[in-house]
Amino acid sequence: MVVKRFRVKFFGIVQGVGFRPFIYREACSIDLKGFVKNVSDCVIVEIEGSQEKIELFLKRVRSNSPPLSKIEKIEKEEIFINNDKNFQILNSVKTLESKIHIPPDIATCKECLNELFDEKDRRYFYPFINCTNCGPRFTIIKDIPYDRKNTSMDVFNMCETCSNEYKNPLDRRFHAEPIACHRCGPEIKLISNKGTEIVSWKQKSTKSGVVKEIINKVIKLLKQGDIIAIKGLGGFHLAVDATNFNAVKKLRSRKSRNFKAFALMVKDIEKIKKIAFIDKREEEILLSPQSPIVLLKKRKNEIIAKNIAPGLDNYGIMVPYTPLHHLIFSNLDYLVMTSGNFSDEPICIKNREVFERLANIADYFLVHNREILVRCDDSICAVYNETPVIFRRARGFAPSPIKLSKKYNTVLALGGYLKNTVCVLKDNFAFLGPHCGDLETPLSRNFFYENIALMQRITETEPDIIAVDMNPAYYSTRFAFDNFKHKKIVKVQHHHAHIVSCISENHISEKVIGIALDGTGYGTDGTVWGGEILIADEKDFKRAGYIKNFLLMGGDISVYEIWRIAVSLLIESFQDKWLIFAEKLNIFPEKIKNREIFYKIWQNKINSINTSSAGRLFDAIAAVLLNKKYVEYEAEAAINLEAFSTFKDFKILPYKIENNIIDFILTFKSVVERVVNGEDRNFLARSFHFTVIDAFVKVAKNIREINGLNKVVLSGGCFQNRILLENFFNLLKKEDFEVFYHLKVPCNDGGISLGQAVIAANKVK
Ligand code: ZN
Ligand code: ZN
Ligand code: FE
Repeated sequence: MVVKRFRVKFFGIVQGVGFRPFIYREACSIDLKGFVKNVSDCVIVEIEGSQEKIELFLKRVRSNSPPLSKIEKIEKEEIFINNDKNFQILNSVKTLESKIHIPPDIATCKECLNELFDEKDRRYFYPFINCTNCGPRFTIIKDIPYDRKNTSMDVFNMCETCSNEYKNPLDRRFHAEPIACHRCGPEIKLISNKGTEIVSWKQKSTKSGVVKEIINKVIKLLKQGDIIAIKGLGGFHLAVDATNFNAVKKLRSRKSRNFKAFALMVKDIEKIKKIAFIDKREEEILLSPQSPIVLLKKRKNEIIAKNIAPGLDNYGIMVPYTPLHHLIFSNLDYLVMTSGNFSDEPICIKNREVFERLANIADYFLVHNREILVRCDDSICAVYNETPVIFRRARGFAPSPIKLSKKYNTVLALGGYLKNTVCVLKDNFAFLGPHCGDLETPLSRNFFYENIALMQRITETEPDIIAVDMNPAYYSTRFAFDNFKHKKIVKVQHHHAHIVSCISENHISEKVIGIALDGTGYGTDGTVWGGEILIADEKDFKRAGYIKNFLLMGGDISVYEIWRIAVSLLIESFQDKWLIFAEKLNIFPEKIKNREIFYKIWQNKINSINTSSAGRLFDAIAAVLLNKKYVEYEAEAAINLEAFSTFKDFKILPYKIENNIIDFILTFKSVVERVVNGEDRNFLARSFHFTVIDAFVKVAKNIREINGLNKVVLSGGCFQNRILLENFFNLLKKEDFEVFYHLKVPCNDGGISLGQAVIAANKVK
């Protein structure tokens, strides 16, 4: 037999994903010699044996590589034989990426799932089964490096069997840090909101028997309409039967959440198909190791309670992703699984915390004693334009870094006020922390501090440059000036941050035309911006165009009382005849009696601010077309308006552009007149969307003519709107623009910390 030796380099996602033990197992299984090791940009394998075996090895590696890995390129060269006696995993050169690599939490893999339901397996019905390919990671870490002693699993001593698996390179659980079993690992408990334990561990003969009894009880309680707080990976969920209208209603009233959609957990793809439309791409994302919530178009059905996602054309759906979920879903199909919190507070993670905070919401608590150390909500994705996009980046994604095109100074960016995230920029990586929510309550502010400390700890940095939003009223901005006085604080304009966030993840280095459409952001002139066209690069920007200002009467209140925006635009459109139209459209809430006074308020701008916000413009149109007066959360009306725009045809409504400033008053006026004339409201809603796109494309063309710029970047929360994103993209493409949008980072304020960090790094040299 002729012995050969090859050096093979594997590029792609091959580090920190169980790739080396996998190579080891494959090589040993066919008796090949050599070694495997990580180097900075790839995994190197030297393999020695017969040509036949080496080819078999390479074939197997390609087809069986671990679920989290992705081989992008293989380089192979023949080298001299070395007569190795065995195959070894060599210690790796520590690279920045591998050193601070903390893998995200991963959904239960197929193999673990088979064992979970295999009566003969020693982990039969064990709710914490995991292996190198799946299980908790980020949410159980205390410190780096990611070793068992640095996780909340350190309090559990491995039994001998687990320990042997952990030490054996041939085992699927080789160095699976959270490894555990019935004998040595965490346990579940079911407790009523009065504090009584429902099933006791004491008298039972087998542990799997107790788990079974608890799970059966849980299923029974859910089926009879009870609300159960279930401890998951990154926090508690509140679970309730999604097919039971009254149970969902009870949850809404106790959680003080009347309209905002609840996420669903559905047993499998078959069951999803009964309630929603789903294509191949969406299915892939649902079943991916990250297992996020995916927004899927509703199918008309009699299964899901009507109060799950009122006024929306989609459901947010995920599949079971922990062993505990799988056990519960062994005899259930559809559950609401919403974050375990009251109103907008952050998700609960500690057992004690949950008993205090959710005692008035949940009837029962399904808890366990594996501590969650990092709060991490479910991530939210969708497929737009046939590509996956992400709207909330948390479980499964955080804290994986976003790779950038070049190296930067180290920066800590504190994000915005809504949908806050923090970001640490280090070398050519942006480490984006998990979604933290709106910084409105003391609890969410605590979460914000936790995130700052955590991201600095795991990246081993204490940056001297701190990036914040320009808005002096933002909590994150005030926090920086109170706590980082001795550091260099860089204030960044909100929409510039949006655009640069998108520039960075797309590795663009030149100037672009940035279209930023969102709710509100503080402008350099002190007004509220939100419908902007910027000429921008990583360092600076120029405001090249925008939506012509209109008046927000009552200032911030109008975000939730959207009828006020409609009144303001009615006055501007119809002057002294405004009230006739306001009454015809029934714009005012019942309780507002003195209506004429609004003209005075408008004229004198009492307690009002000017804005160019696209989000608020959508609110005003929604107030007219949907007869909506109040919203519960920002952008609710715009989301409803999108769902309402079902008409196939549309027409471009009138608008005016002067010096690249777009005046949509004519558009608003036209919508109102047409509604009064009885035109179809669906048609008008869709027409409005396309009118906005038409106007912005025109301005982009004007800018290209003068500046020669051809790359257009789309960012801002409005691009969560499918009609806007897809058609902005298509219509700009049609005009031969190169168009970029967000793929890895949210287009909403969850993404601005990345832009802030990059801009600050460019400003301070
Ligand atoms: Zn597994
Ligand atoms: Zn064990
Ligand atoms: Fe924004």
